[in-house]
Amino acid sequence: MKILLVFAHPEPRSLNGALRDVAVAELRRQGHEVQVSDLYAQNWKPTVDRSDFPGLASEERLLPTAASKATFDAGELTQDVRAEIDKLLWADVLILQFPLWWFSMPAILKGWVERVFACGFAYGVGEHSDKRWGDRYGEGVLAGKRAMLMVTIGGWEQHYGARGVNGPIDDLLFPIHHGILFYPGYDVLPPFVVYQAGRLDQAGFEMAAEHLRERMRTLATTPPIPYRRQNGGDYLIPSMELRPGLDAPGANGFALHLRDEQTGR
Ligand code: FAD
Repeated sequence: MKILLVFAHPEPRSLNGALRDVAVAELRRQGHEVQVSDLYAQNWKPTVDRSDFPGLASEERLLPTAASKATFDAGELTQDVRAEIDKLLWADVLILQFPLWWFSMPAILKGWVERVFACGFAYGVGEHSDKRWGDRYGEGVLAGKRAMLMVTIGGWEQHYGARGVNGPIDDLLFPIHHGILFYPGYDVLPPFVVYQAGRLDQAGFEMAAEHLRERMRTLATTPPIPYRRQNGGDYLIPSMELRPGLDAPGANGFALHLRDEQTGR
């Protein structure tokens, strides 16, 4: 397989840097091809602004979605964005690796998504009618590929459990898993998470590294999170609400968008 790992930590000698090296070494040992986008090393520009849209006249008002679409359609995306899109199209698997900062991804990685997931490429694609609402949530240009997060977290696992004060980790990661990765079509694998990362000793590192190697060995076979496909009949169009009767008893919030694997509904 071909794997793209997008690395978002400013220090190569960090725990994240060490885990990246473990993942890449294991993938290569398995015979996979790997590319790494090291965002800080690349000095990635994280903000969307006029310089992203060379065809936009200086007096024209900047409408980011329209400008993104026009620039994508005209083949005029900046070289740095085009290179990342080419890597996404090349890769069978995308791994986003980052430390949890303020309950989300570091700004540089959010900015990578904002610029690389262009309109006409990752969103704003497909038929909009009374039968379909675009190619998204399970469909889209990246459908058939897999994606996974590698996240280090300062807090304890219990702090991110069902009753933990920080909120459940599956809920915190839902906007990335569902809103960023499933949206343009990826099958999203359960995340690889290291808790209490700031206090990890050598024994803890070895355990985490072994778990990570195992996740790298099973990238192709790990069942994805069973998100419901938007155009598979589970949602009403155009309200995009889940059809009544499909939800498991007691399900609400983000959990509504998971298929019940027992019943298949
Ligand atoms: P490092 O600091 O590089 O290392 C962590 C530990 O791993 C060190 O003790 C190091 O000695 C050890 N280690 C063991 N083996 C190795 C090895 N082989 N190589 C390198 N290091 C090793 N946490 C939360 O829970 N929620 C938040 O919302 C949150 N927000 C944050 C916001 C900011 C701006 C910052 C800076 C931190 C935040 N944190 C939060 C904590 C953050 O998630 C952790 O600091 C981070 O995940 C640790 O990863 P690291 O790669 O930076 O670790």
